[in-house]
Amino acid sequence: MIELQNVTKSYKGRGGSVDAVRDISLQVKPGEIFGIIGHSGAGKSTLIRCMNLLERPTSGRAWFGKTELTALSERQLQAERRKIGMIFQHFNLLASVTVRENIAFPLVLAGKSRKEYAARVDELLALVGLEAHGDKYPSQLSGGQKQRVGIARALAADPQVLLCDEATSALDPQTTNSILSLLMSINEKLGLTIILITHEMQVIRSICDRVAVMDAGRIVEMGAVLDVFLRP
Ligand code: ADP
Ligand code: ADP
Repeated sequence: MIELQNVTKSYKGRGGSVDAVRDISLQVKPGEIFGIIGHSGAGKSTLIRCMNLLERPTSGRAWFGKTELTALSERQLQAERRKIGMIFQHFNLLASVTVRENIAFPLVLAGKSRKEYAARVDELLALVGLEAHGDKYPSQLSGGQKQRVGIARALAADPQVLLCDEATSALDPQTTNSILSLLMSINEKLGLTIILITHEMQVIRSICDRVAVMDAGRIVEMGAVLDVFLRP
């Protein structure tokens, strides 16, 4: 579904160049929930952004299904990116428009009219449990509700993969659990492949099938969650 082959991402700074991601290869299978855990600065965010080419790898190759993303132009990438949804730690909602308009945003960008997207937005509101909140503004919502809007927006264009960048890190434990159960139900109901990064072991334990442990830009362990974390 998603494959990285020898991906390295270097950033040039005043003190020379930093390899945020060093020579990482991995494959995420269709339908799995794949977690990436590591300390702050380990390279998780850079790695997940190399999967939809929000960051272009300095070297190495990235595939989405049979399409090699690293071989595409920016213009060609835009079409592929619709098949890969993304959610963020701080939700990244538009403050000046309603929940409904936030969710519709990717559909508007794809050229759909209000008539075409209205029913889809209702369906998404129901999927994330926000039927009663469509006409509110983000500032009127709790953190958990904001992330539900983020999830609905990410799903609007019917992607096959959802990338989650510290999606629960700004939420309290109870809200974290409600967002994790929503992600699990989306994984089951829609067959969506989910890749998430987190610094919280609990998140990995509660929903991931496989996990990669990152440290200093490298993957130091990778396997089934039970194998990686129950080993003596
Ligand atoms: P994590 O998500 O695990 O916290 P990041 O991928 O954000 O890690 O960062 C990995 C390393 O790359 C860190 O040393 C960070 O300072 C550096 N880094 C990340 N983004 C940039 C950037 N845009 N420019 C320069 N350095 C960066
Ligand atoms: P918070 O705890 O920040 O208010 P939640 O994410 O727990 O936000 O809940 C947001 C909304 O989703 C609430 O209206 C809640 O009733 C509803 N909700 C909570 N859990 C579920 C669920 N598993 N399925 C559908 N809707 C839910």
